[in-house]
Amino acid sequence: MRIGSKITAGIGSMAALLAVTCGLSWTLASQQINVMSSERSAIVLNRNVKQYQVDAADVAVAENSIAYDITSRTDPSADLRSFAQATSAAQADAVTLEAMNLGATKRSELTEATKAVEAYIAQSNTINAGFNAGTKNSIAAANAEVADLNYGKVIGPIGQLEQLSAAQSTSVLAASAAQGKRDRLLVLALALAALVLAGGVGTVVTRGITSRLRRTVKVLEQVAAGDLTKRIEVDSADEVGQMGTALNIALDHIEERARGQRFESRLANALEMADDEAEVLTVIERSFALTVPGSAVELLLADNSHAHLYRMAAASPTGDMSGCSVDSPDQCPAARRAQVQYFSDIEALDACPKLRGRADCPTQALCGPVSIMGRTVGVIHATRTTVAPFPETQLADLGTLAKLAGARIGILRTMSDTQLQATTDSLTGLLNRRSFEQRVTELLDTGTPVSVVMADLDHFKVLNDTYGHAVGDRALILFAQTLQNSLRAQDVVGRHGGEEFTVALPDCSASNAQMTLELLRARLETAITVAGLPRYTASFGVVDAGDQEDLPAVLVRADAALYTAKREGRDRIVVDHTMPESVAS
Ligand code: GH3
Ligand code: MG
Ligand code: MG
Repeated sequence: MRIGSKITAGIGSMAALLAVTCGLSWTLASQQINVMSSERSAIVLNRNVKQYQVDAADVAVAENSIAYDITSRTDPSADLRSFAQATSAAQADAVTLEAMNLGATKRSELTEATKAVEAYIAQSNTINAGFNAGTKNSIAAANAEVADLNYGKVIGPIGQLEQLSAAQSTSVLAASAAQGKRDRLLVLALALAALVLAGGVGTVVTRGITSRLRRTVKVLEQVAAGDLTKRIEVDSADEVGQMGTALNIALDHIEERARGQRFESRLANALEMADDEAEVLTVIERSFALTVPGSAVELLLADNSHAHLYRMAAASPTGDMSGCSVDSPDQCPAARRAQVQYFSDIEALDACPKLRGRADCPTQALCGPVSIMGRTVGVIHATRTTVAPFPETQLADLGTLAKLAGARIGILRTMSDTQLQATTDSLTGLLNRRSFEQRVTELLDTGTPVSVVMADLDHFKVLNDTYGHAVGDRALILFAQTLQNSLRAQDVVGRHGGEEFTVALPDCSASNAQMTLELLRARLETAITVAGLPRYTASFGVVDAGDQEDLPAVLVRADAALYTAKREGRDRIVVDHTMPESVAS
């Protein structure tokens, strides 16, 4: 149940209870008003009955006073007026009481009382008429009747009515007091029940939310501290539960991203430690099992012409892999589209055609293009024979491997090119002067016996002037190639500058070097003819490097021998067998 629904249900029941309480209070208040009105009626009746009693008593008192006045021969006028007033007051009281809403018992009591009062008034009037007649007999008869006038005749019946109305007001008051007490208790109980319900609903809902929010916060703190495996326990489908589910999905993504980043970081470290392309290929091959476990994987890289793809690394869980038959990057969909391609069913219409008919019968394939400097030069190609699809993580990791592999190979190739450019002469491809000197100095430092040659093309200026600079360049290139081809792998050859070259021959005496150079001169002549270049020659100065003699000193002596060769007519080799004095000594 949703939190909103729980709160709504709680508030709804509270509202219902409050509505019942209010309705009941309203009803009770109305009842109370009715009770008050009956109390008031009872009080008014009581007062009127008392008034009737008083006025009736006044009638009796006035009548007795009249009788006394007559018998004592006093003027009765004042008492007659009092009698008339009391009479009309008592009659008016009777009319007032008559108009009141009385019960049957009280009404009959009132009738009795009124009759008694009227009878008393009628008897009084007869007596007063006797007195007024003033005869002896009439006065005597009136006096005899006065004795019959009894105060109780008037008051008695009214007293009965008074008792009834007093009893009624007492019972009305007692009943209303008891009713009021019950009502107050009921209202109090209902109000308390509403409060308890409100508190209960509030507590249940609040506890339900806060305890689960606290658990969620704890999990998030653990994740923030680095434990990405923690997940929120989802035990309901309400908003907090939905939040937990959504956070768990987000945590899955974060964990997967962190895993991908860890893989990328470890792979980048491994590739960074690979100093050449062969080592990079080893790292790539080792990473295959980690990247796409359970799959046959191969790395195909294009050659320099970019026309052919060759398998440079491979791994297979079974050891069996026929590999992709794609011939060039242009034929590979992943290389052409420059993005990872996943063929989940090789029989699908849009699957790569190279996947069908293979001996190892793959069911699906994953191909990640390898780019170097923005140009796709290969592909990492993984195949499976199982039905289970490649997991998303493997798709991402294969893309990462292809990306990092291409970047590392690109860097190494660039570094190698830069290094080559820095150490070699761009025209002839030989070592430049600085690299030559560095290499030979290292050689001399090892104490290896070395003979050093300085060569210079003869009259090269004339050749340039006669046939042009381009022909001069070709002549320089041909000389460099012939020189290199005539020497051993361990010999160090450099372009000293212009049309001058230097050679260092380790473990080779100057005399043996001379024989090698003679051979070179013969080869050069043939090569010039084959290349169709104008004939040109070279002069050579050869020396043995003295023990502990440094390279500049050796080169000075070799240059001197070369100068001798020039001076003696060029196109020859001059060997200087003399050792420098300081070294010789
Ligand atoms: P010598 O026999 O006395 O050495 O005479 P030479 O003409 O060879 O010597 P010189 O020092 O007078 O001239 C060297 C020439 O080599 C001048 C220069 O134009 C040419 N040269 C130097 N470097 C290059 C280059 O890279 N290409 C071409 N085509 N010519 C070059
Ligand atoms: Mg020169
Ligand atoms: Mg020259």
